[in-house]
Amino acid sequence: MHVGGISIEPVLDGVVRLPATAAYRSMAGTDDPKGSSEGDWAPHRGLLSEDGMLELALGGFLVRTGDRVVVVDTGVGELERGLFRGGQLLAGLSALGVAPGEVTDVVLTHLHFDHVGWTTRHGEVVFPNATYRCDVRDWEHFVGPDPGATKKLRPIEGHLEPWNGSGALLGGIDTMSAPGHTPGSTIVVVSSGSDRAMLLGDVVHCPVELLDDEWAGISDVDPELALRTRRALVKELEGSDTPVAAAHFPGLRFGRLLFGAGKRSWVVG
Ligand SMILES: [Zn+2]
Repeated sequence: MHVGGISIEPVLDGVVRLPATAAYRSMAGTDDPKGSSEGDWAPHRGLLSEDGMLELALGGFLVRTGDRVVVVDTGVGELERGLFRGGQLLAGLSALGVAPGEVTDVVLTHLHFDHVGWTTRHGEVVFPNATYRCDVRDWEHFVGPDPGATKKLRPIEGHLEPWNGSGALLGGIDTMSAPGHTPGSTIVVVSSGSDRAMLLGDVVHCPVELLDDEWAGISDVDPELALRTRRALVKELEGSDTPVAAAHFPGLRFGRLLFGAGKRSWVVG
């Protein structure tokens, strides 16, 4: 994926496969919740693997803009947590010609364990020359109150430059505040002139949530706010032709949300 002179490449850390009907829960207070039955999935079979499983990629994106080498999200790391198993991110970066010491910036869409896995390893920063960046609200929500996140992330504190909501971050990279999944959940907007692409983090987990924004999200800290954020995103994307990829889309592939003949469609590529 290229946005002007900026390149965006997926870097896989692993893959998790879940039964599609188990992955989504119902929204509290909703009489007719979407995303919990075979019937709900029937129109969206194309988004599942051949055996009907929901495939969630784990990993991040390598963004090269000007003289910056930026990693957006860092996967699960060497941890095994339930079905979540990573381990491949550094090899993926190496295959793209990037050594850990060459990374200039680590940008974290939010601080859930499956996005911060390779920030540190055995208490040492993995990317020793990088500035680590996240929204200050997520830092305050997780580091301190959450023991697992604190152990993982405390060592980056001296390398941290948090941002606060929406704004310019680096040349060609802006943050767009997208709270709900976590308090500081952020969409990373890559742009060059009138071209742009968006990295959605966990604002959505599967394109189904863009096609029908009534689907309940996965592990949202504030489900109601996350739903409002998804609706606003879908409104913005519909017909915009902006390529987007979320942190767990299969293969970390980009797609576009199109609108025609009264309904939305998802086109990969
Ligand atoms: Zn995630």
